[in-house]
Amino acid sequence: MIPVIVISTVKLPAKHICIILLLLIFCLFCRSCFLSRPLTAQAPLPLSGMVIGVDPGHGGYDPGVIKGDIKEKDIVLAIGLFLRNYLQQGGAWVVMTRDRDMDFLEAVAGPKKRLDMQNRLRIIEEAGVELLISIHTNGMNSSLWRGAQVFYQQGSEEGKLLAGAIQDELRRVAKNTDRQIKGGDFFMLREASMNGALVEVGFLSNPEEAALLATPEYQKKIAWAIYLGIISYLSAR
Ligand SMILES: [Zn+2]
Repeated sequence: MIPVIVISTVKLPAKHICIILLLLIFCLFCRSCFLSRPLTAQAPLPLSGMVIGVDPGHGGYDPGVIKGDIKEKDIVLAIGLFLRNYLQQGGAWVVMTRDRDMDFLEAVAGPKKRLDMQNRLRIIEEAGVELLISIHTNGMNSSLWRGAQVFYQQGSEEGKLLAGAIQDELRRVAKNTDRQIKGGDFFMLREASMNGALVEVGFLSNPEEAALLATPEYQKKIAWAIYLGIISYLSAR
């Protein structure tokens, strides 16, 4: 004979009672699991809360290096804008010194270049930038030289680490440079109160590299490498 348990006026076989109890325990377990973790949990963005400055060199009256109809000021602006997009997608607040073809001359009196640089610096400082990336292209008399290279302010250990992280990613992503980071003296890096690096994205004096730098695909690749370098530097701190 099958054992029967009486619940109120309904008679159920003990086997069925066990199944119902097991189902109840399972439901309670699932409920506690769902309640203990948010259903919409997302990984935090890697650059959340960071203020990053992007300084595309030259602009306006100052074209920088020129090779045929390719101008440094246009190449570095395009790369800077791609970098801005990547950084924003990573959660950063991005401050561009310029987002179009312009310079920073409020008055034409005095040494133009110095005034331009001082005004760039003011934008960066007033915006509370925490990390600064200046973008330039290189140019030599010879067409032999090529490859992206990152510079840091001599004596800055943090600058050296940042430059190294970006150089590593440029080597890995662009796959066309074996250049090493180099220290030097640069107005923006020296005078700025935050850490920074200057990225020479390649040589316009090398026809093959100049042609590459003029394409959006390559500009994006370089911007992506700089972005990954920034992430790598910050995650190692
Ligand atoms: Zn330059």
